[in-house]
Amino acid sequence: NQQKWQAEKTYDTQCPYCSMQCKMQLIEQSSFTNKKYKTISKDNPTSQGRLCIKGLNAHQHALHKERIKYPLFKKDGEFVQISWGEALEHIKINFTRIQSEYGLNALSVYGGGSLTNEEAYLLGKFARVSLKTKYIDYNGRFCMAAAATAANQAFGIDRGLTNSLSEIPNSRCIIIVGSNLAECQPTMTPYFHKAKENGAYIIVIDPRETETTKMADLHLKLKPGTDAALANGLLKVIIEENYVDDLFVQDRTNGFQELEKYLNAVDLNEIEQITGIEIEHIQRAARKFGEEESGMIFTARGVEQQTDGVMAVRNLLNILLVTGKIGKPSCGYGAITGQGNGQGGREHGQKADQLPGYRLIDNKEHRKYISDIWGINEKDLPKKGVSAYEMIEEIHRGEIKGMFLMGSNPVVSNPNANIVKEAFQKLKFLVVVDMFISETARYADLILPSSSYLEDEGTLTNLEGRVTLREASRACPGEVKHDWQIICEISHILGKGKYFSFKSVEDIFNELRVASRGGIADYYGITYDRLREENGILWPCPTINHQGSKRLFETSFAHLDEKAVLIPVSNYSTVSKEKISEEYPLYLTTGRVLAHYLTGVQTRKSSVLAARNFESFIEIHPSTAMKYRIQDNSLVQIESKKGRIVVRSKWSNQIRQDTVFVPFHWADSQNVNCLISDSLDPTCKIPGFKISAVKISPID
Ligand code: SF4
Repeated sequence: NQQKWQAEKTYDTQCPYCSMQCKMQLIEQSSFTNKKYKTISKDNPTSQGRLCIKGLNAHQHALHKERIKYPLFKKDGEFVQISWGEALEHIKINFTRIQSEYGLNALSVYGGGSLTNEEAYLLGKFARVSLKTKYIDYNGRFCMAAAATAANQAFGIDRGLTNSLSEIPNSRCIIIVGSNLAECQPTMTPYFHKAKENGAYIIVIDPRETETTKMADLHLKLKPGTDAALANGLLKVIIEENYVDDLFVQDRTNGFQELEKYLNAVDLNEIEQITGIEIEHIQRAARKFGEEESGMIFTARGVEQQTDGVMAVRNLLNILLVTGKIGKPSCGYGAITGQGNGQGGREHGQKADQLPGYRLIDNKEHRKYISDIWGINEKDLPKKGVSAYEMIEEIHRGEIKGMFLMGSNPVVSNPNANIVKEAFQKLKFLVVVDMFISETARYADLILPSSSYLEDEGTLTNLEGRVTLREASRACPGEVKHDWQIICEISHILGKGKYFSFKSVEDIFNELRVASRGGIADYYGITYDRLREENGILWPCPTINHQGSKRLFETSFAHLDEKAVLIPVSNYSTVSKEKISEEYPLYLTTGRVLAHYLTGVQTRKSSVLAARNFESFIEIHPSTAMKYRIQDNSLVQIESKKGRIVVRSKWSNQIRQDTVFVPFHWADSQNVNCLISDSLDPTCKIPGFKISAVKISPID
């Protein structure tokens, strides 16, 4: 065998599948007739040499035979290979025609949280400078929008973690809300295990028992959608039993009196009724968090993807602030970002309301600063657009006629997915940049082949806010181009080449650094050379000599008066949530499984990962299943007011009897997002993915 397998090549890279961004090395061995691959981990400050099953098999999608290797144009309903020159000409003709017939805002751009920082930056610039449209947003709207808005409102800055991961093991009490990090960010789990070994008390708030709740000392298995009310219960006990850090509250916060007054009227019996959590358990959690000298709170999509996601997170931040557990060692907040570059993806201008460096598009000064860097007149910079799902609604209404879509699969990932399909059918010209013919790409007029994590050079920002450099390790296959090259070439053919004369990714990063300078997410002091030497730098990093910011808010918050903001939060969402009824008697909640990532476009291509979970399922309590005549491992129809799907049953004692769970990695007749309503959080516009009312029936 040793004779047969001879040559060996190694490729250093970073896993694309979650915000831990674990460093790894792909080893390729060749024989005369074959190749085989193995992935090993590489040490780095975040993952500390660990990898999970997704990272170990990431190469299977990058090397998959179904990867698109040249531009594809739809002709008579079939995709045919064309040259890059022809592809660019199609874009020029169709984009120009649409804008001259319907106006500049008839075109839209839809991005993704897996793009590198440079690609995210360039996509925002492309929408505003090359297309001059106000319509740009991205799939991170479904990921981090609630946590980001809450942190901005409370602290004045949104960085995933206010501390580096290395502070978790020394924290004495940790509350994890709506996160199954053991399956979504597996290499993060050992930080919590270490904390437990050191004596920490861990509280997990989740309607389901998961791999993550297994490490909890106290699992609060609340009714779906009642997180804000539970936080009120915790706050009431903390204030009534004198766990408030008076000095911190007085010196570092505003709004305590209003919060206290509101909580005086909160009734713990009512909280028990709303949440389904016994008062005794609420008290135990509050006392434990209050009495320990250090504590951290982590949130994820379980609490954030709700129509009161922003306020629910704000209420959890209230707990941190009244107990003074922020800005100190092993005290702080972490929004556990889901997507591969969820943090960086939201900092550089892909969002409808933001410009690079977290600058605001409706702030005159910010607009001027970015316009000057881009070399355009501030008056030509488009105004604020709308959020991702609202863009789909604009397509459905006929306002948006064309779209340029990069690194996202909105036909599967949006709520009310049946309507989303209708909308995409209405587009007059859709360009999709992807590695595969995804469910969304099927609707495209033109598909452009994009590079994978093995071929893509660029910076990424992990869940801590640590900026790292992923160098390209393999050449692009076939006629595949890098996303940044595609954007630059389209800009050239549209006559905007002078704004996109980049020769390398590093060139783009250097412009990004200047664009972010003085903003909240300040990257100015970070360079490619430093990243190569220092193995990651935490922003803000305003100067070349700055070491990066490991812990935020030690002496001040980022609001003008340097104080954080406390706010009373209602037990109930202002946008009414779906309620169970006689017709739809069960709550539906959604989430991930260990083996898959987002809508599964990449992980479903991996034979190892697909073998682990090759189809969707409904997790259902045996008592509930029996009530509805549903056998274990049998087909079940799930129906909501928005649609229906069919998946296989999986009996489990780990879920509440009034709730079922379905993962969101599958498409078509198994796409759970067909069941989700289009209600959005009024502030951040995140859809309420985590709570729907459904009925179920067996399929005979
Ligand atoms: Fe690391 Fe996340 Fe990739 Fe797993 S999926 S190897 S935890 S980056």
